Amino acid sequence: MSSAPAAPSSRVVIVGGGPGGYESALVAAQLGAEVTVVDTDGLGGSAVLTDCVPSKTLIATAELMTEMSTAAELGIESTDEQGDHATGIHVDLGKVNARVKRLAAEQSADIARRLERDGVRVLQGRGRLDGPGKVVAELADGGSESLAADAVLLATGAAPRTLPSAVPDGERILTWEQVYDLTEVPTELIVVGSGVTGAEFASAYLALGIPVTLVSSRDRVLPGEDADAAQVLEDVLKRRGMNVLSRSRMQSVARDGDVVTVTLSDGREVQGSHCILALGSVPNTADLGLEEAGVQTDDGGFVRVDRVSRTSARGVYAAGDCTGVLMLASVAAMQGRIAMWHFLGDAVAPLDLKKVSSNVFTAPEIATVGWSQRTIDAGEIQAETVMLPLRGNPRAKMQGVHDGFVKLFCRPGTGIVVGGVVVGPRASELIHPVSLAVAESLTADQLAQAFTVYPSMSGSVAEAARRLHHF
Ligand SMILES: Cc1cc2nc3c(=O)[nH]c(=O)nc-3n(C[C@H](O)[C@H](O)[C@H](O)COP(=O)(O)OP(=O)(O)OC[C@H]3O[C@@H](n4cnc5c(N)ncnc54)[C@H](O)[C@@H]3O)c2cc1C
Repeated sequence: MSSAPAAPSSRVVIVGGGPGGYESALVAAQLGAEVTVVDTDGLGGSAVLTDCVPSKTLIATAELMTEMSTAAELGIESTDEQGDHATGIHVDLGKVNARVKRLAAEQSADIARRLERDGVRVLQGRGRLDGPGKVVAELADGGSESLAADAVLLATGAAPRTLPSAVPDGERILTWEQVYDLTEVPTELIVVGSGVTGAEFASAYLALGIPVTLVSSRDRVLPGEDADAAQVLEDVLKRRGMNVLSRSRMQSVARDGDVVTVTLSDGREVQGSHCILALGSVPNTADLGLEEAGVQTDDGGFVRVDRVSRTSARGVYAAGDCTGVLMLASVAAMQGRIAMWHFLGDAVAPLDLKKVSSNVFTAPEIATVGWSQRTIDAGEIQAETVMLPLRGNPRAKMQGVHDGFVKLFCRPGTGIVVGGVVVGPRASELIHPVSLAVAESLTADQLAQAFTVYPSMSGSVAEAARRLHHF
């Protein structure tokens, strides 16, 4: 990206220090603006401190445990010092959680150092609009500061949704932000909600050796994802012993001593030692002075933005989870950068959600990019589909990988790749060639012609592309 210097007088105030906020601060500083970030909780936001980074650190331990579960198939036997078969490997949840928190704090500190080095001013406190061109920061150490701004970026994120009938107590009824305070291992964990967050935690704790019940109001887990991928995941989770309750709507969650009871809307009760609520997110947009500044929100309270992150108020931009556009750290960061490129007059392309790759960090992982099977089935785009199971892949056989597939979608006629799904271990890495093809409008033939290593999982991406060849 070229860096045409902005007029020195451009003052940018950013409210919220998550990926939407700090990434835009870096771009604005690079383009010569005078930048202030107002943030309540610590740089990196929820992404770094409570959501994305902590959960993926926990999942790194879970991933290793999953790999170890195939050890016997690969000829590895575990014995203790006396040569007896060990009773099993176990996880020290206290140590895992301490590592999670340490890594999160270190990453937040890294971001703080980077902003400082780039000349960004950071104020710890709560920001709110005072009209479109001014932000008032209520500072954490007392007092307040009024900040005049040529542009304001709102990047205040979102928080876990809770219900009056399911109130977290931080000990046994937990939001996803509270799980890292657990020191004792749950004896029976109930996860309510089978969207991405619920599925990731259920899969991770199961791999850590904890009995898990997943309460899902829908027909199958991950209702928003590719149906074939979700089916593979559900089959694997059940095979590994998870109790998946589908079409089961949670009505309430209550605790009595050490026992947590989840009551379902049909009267059934599920009991466990702990419960994680994964009921979605609500935007942090209350008390931000939005209405007075002319910033419109939708019915759910999310800030309305266009594809260059402009709100309905001139000079006020918004990025990330508070807009509800696509709740991913990568999208928050890109929305923030786009806002600054737009405001400061740099080259900018509007946000294109069809190029976003994303991943569900379950075991197996589910990675997707571009147009989906659902949109193809609904006739929104015409595309040819191929789906290739991973079990035929030589590397998969060697590694004892039995589940997963590569699916590709290409346009009839041109053969241009418009989307894909990968299900398997490290699908988050395997999706990249498909992302490149989608971003650069490569044809299936072009994707097939690039060499892949033999043997490799990525050989299945090329093989799937070959099957889309037209004579
Ligand atoms: C469990 C979980 C796992 C996830 N995993 C992934 C993943 O693997 N990959 C991925 O891409 N995405 C992931 N996400 C989504 C990702 O965390 C969010 O999309 C991302 O955090 C959004 O960034 P943001 O900058 O909009 O907001 P946030 O990261 O929420 O940051 C906003 C910050 O602003 C602060 N703030 C709020 N109001 C004010 C105010 N008035 N004044 C000052 N500061 C304020 C907040 O306290 C917060 O610190 C995950 C989400 C969850 C819940």
